[in-house]
This record gives sequence, C-alpha cells and structure tokens, in this order.
Amino acid sequence: MTHDGLGVTPQGEDFSAWYNEVVYQAELVDRGPVRGTMVMRPYGYRIWELLQADMDRRIKETGHLNAYFPLLIPESYLQREAEHVAGFSPELAVVTHAGGKDLDEPLIVRPTSETIIGEMMAKWISSYRDLPMLLNQWANVVRWELRPRTFLRTTEFIWQEGHTAHADEAGAMAETLLALDLYAHVARDVAAMPVVEGEKTPGERFAGARRTFTVEAMMRDGRALQSGTSHYLGENFARAFSIRYSAQTGEQRFCHTSSWGMSTRMIGGVIMTHGDDKGLVLPPLLAPYQVVIVPIGRGSAGSAVLDAARELDGRLRRAGIRTHVDTREHLTPGYKFNDWELRGVPLRAELGPRDLAEGSVVMSPRLGGGKVSVPLDSAVSRLEAELAAFQAMLLERATAFRDAHTVEVSSWEEFTAAVGSGWAVAFHCGQASCEDDIKAATSATPRCIPAEGDAASGVCVRCDAPSAYGKRIIFGRSY
Ligand SMILES: [Zn+2]
Repeated sequence: MTHDGLGVTPQGEDFSAWYNEVVYQAELVDRGPVRGTMVMRPYGYRIWELLQADMDRRIKETGHLNAYFPLLIPESYLQREAEHVAGFSPELAVVTHAGGKDLDEPLIVRPTSETIIGEMMAKWISSYRDLPMLLNQWANVVRWELRPRTFLRTTEFIWQEGHTAHADEAGAMAETLLALDLYAHVARDVAAMPVVEGEKTPGERFAGARRTFTVEAMMRDGRALQSGTSHYLGENFARAFSIRYSAQTGEQRFCHTSSWGMSTRMIGGVIMTHGDDKGLVLPPLLAPYQVVIVPIGRGSAGSAVLDAARELDGRLRRAGIRTHVDTREHLTPGYKFNDWELRGVPLRAELGPRDLAEGSVVMSPRLGGGKVSVPLDSAVSRLEAELAAFQAMLLERATAFRDAHTVEVSSWEEFTAAVGSGWAVAFHCGQASCEDDIKAATSATPRCIPAEGDAASGVCVRCDAPSAYGKRIIFGRSY
C-alpha cells in the first residue's frame, strides 16, 4: 500500500502483492478467522451473484434441475471409490465428535458431492425412462488448503456442481462436452476471459474420472488458471454406488455419469485477466456498479448538481444499468476517482456546475481513452453503447495478450523461455515421468490438449520420444 492509502504495488514489480492488495483494498474480501478461509464482502459477493445468475440460467436452459444435498457425508461413502478417496484424503475435514460424544462413523465435510449424489441416483434411477438424470447443486465445499490464496484456493469455496447419469458412454460424453462449452461461453461472453478448451492429460485428471476436460485462461503474469472442469466418470461411480437401470431389453446396466464444476475461483480469474496498476478492471456484465456518478460542487450549486446526478441515476437504472451516486461529502473528487478506479468501475460520470449549465456530463472510461462530454439528454443510450464496447474491448485485449504470450516451440530452450512468460505449445511423449521432469525443471505442467489445433506429430520437447495425443499440447505455470 502506498503512503496515501490508495494505490497498489505495480504488477510488474510484484504480481502477487498486487493481487493481494487489490482484493482487500477493493473491498472484495476480508480474511476469515480460520486459515485459508475468506469473507466475501458485499462488493465481492455481488460479482459472484452476477456470475452465478448467468450460469444458473444457462444450466437450466440446458435441461438441468437444481437440487441440494447434505454438507456432511458418511466417511464410508468416499471409501467406495478407491481413486476418489485417495485423491481427496489429504484435503478432507472430518467431523469425529458431535452432540457431545464421539461419532460411530466419522463424517466428511463435502469436498465435492459425487458420492452422496451417486447414492441418491442409485435410489432414484431404475429404468431407461429415468435417464438422462440431469442435476445441479449450488453449494459450499471444503478442501483443506496448505497454500491458500484468495479466490483461487480457499479452504471453503462456493461453486456449482453438475451431476448427470446417462444410459451409455455417448450420452455421458456429450453431456461432459456440453458443460465444457457452457463454461467456455460464461468465461468469454460474461467474464471476457478468452479461455482455451481442451482435455487434461492422464496425470492431471480428477480423482475417479475417466476423462477430464478444462477451460484454461491466461492471467496477466502469464500463468494459467484452470477456470472450470468437466469430467466423464465412465461407470466408476455407477459401479461404486450401484447406479443401474433396466434397458429396453430388460437387461440391467450400469449408468455412465458426468460431473462438472465452476467456482468463486472465477473471480480471481477476472481480477488477474483484466486488472492493471490502478487496481481492478471489471467487465460491465460482472460489475456491481457499471457507472458511478461523481457529483462535484458545494453549496447551492452543489445541491443542483446532486439533484441532476440523482435524476441521471434514475434514468440509467430504469434502463437496466447498475449505477451508484457517490455522495460522500468528506472526500475530494480526486480521491473518489482513484477509489472507483481501484474498484474497477467500467465508467465514471462526472457532473459539476459547469457541465450542468451546458446540459452535459463528463464520461471517463476505466481504461482511459480520454474524458468525453456527453449531452445529458442522450446519456442513457450513449452509456449503454459505451458499456457494450468496454465489454468487447476487454475480451479483445485479453485475447491479444494471450496470443502474444503463447509460443509454438520445438526445442527445450524455446520451451523454457516460453513458460517463463506465458504458454508453450509443444509435442509431448505422454509419459507421466516426463511430465514430472518438466515440472521439476520449470514449474510448468500440461494445461490441456487443446480441442482446436492441427493434427501433427513429432518428438517430445523434453525427451525426444515420439509424441502422443496427435497434436501439440499447451504447457504453462499455473495457479
Ligand atoms: Zn517426454
């Protein structure tokens, strides 16, 4: 924090310090009393609500129904799927004592809900007529974090988890990819994050999944953020929980299931995709306030200005624009400008006695481009257009940044240089030991086998063995 209390460490100096200062100074979060937990303050929670509302609409439009399952899961449920319990064991919070005595069976605070939902699906599905079963849950989950980081890895976080059951692999795979596509659209169209869709290599799969798909975004320090994942679970959970149906032939078959999740981590993605040295930059579709009006002036001139500001505020609200009039009397306009810049408001509208006399308002976009005087009469349509342009510009800017920091490489020297500042697109042999070796040498991991990308083959960028996957894959350091 700088001496005057506003302003943050430049990104280029210390990206991590910049991030931590932004999340607290912009009043998105506060620290929770338990290590790794965060309190989402109203300004931060509003961003989540806006994202959540959009996702919920898309989830419902694609035929899924919301349900809610208990927070506490019997320990024996997790043990039924061997890979699942092995993957999650180190992160589990376990309740062993309740109601004043030791419990006969320990209870797990859900880290994810495949097991308890699987148990219920087994009860609810009996015939092919019950399929597909398309469920979604909005919930908090707990995963004990050794290296917590606000929004990105918190011990407790909020998310949605989709859980579906299908008659066969084709149905479950189509669902897995439908969820992935939904995430890609939410990221691009709402958060203005140009994600890459792809499949995880076997070493990066979800514990218990047959195939894991991901949307990966590049942050402004060149690191990758896994922003949403979708899993084809095969018959793994169906066999563990006996999710079976009688086919038209009368034969008993196991279902094929999928699960998919996107969380409050996305807010961290928005911060690190768009933010700059002045602080947060919010895409209009996720901004709690899309326009902040700062009235300028004192005395009788000031009160006329305030009336005009409230009138403009009312017109903008009726047009569906989220606005706020900053009436704080003890702060200077200059302080307010810096404050709303730090908090990422897309457009600022300044209104002083001279502007009012001229029948205009001064509009100032968060990413500069100069102040523009706009007639008050046409301010609503003009600001609407500016917000749409701002949203589109953020996606273009982030796409250009990602492309400028993504390099197709053929040598190890090129690879290490590329992952130092962004992503390397390279041939890989597909061996887990080689992935580990690359990670030890550079901290980079395979982010995904991109869905797009030309079919090609060659030799592994690290070990010269023949390449796997039929195309180059993306490596990067990640959060
Ligand atoms: Zn290799």
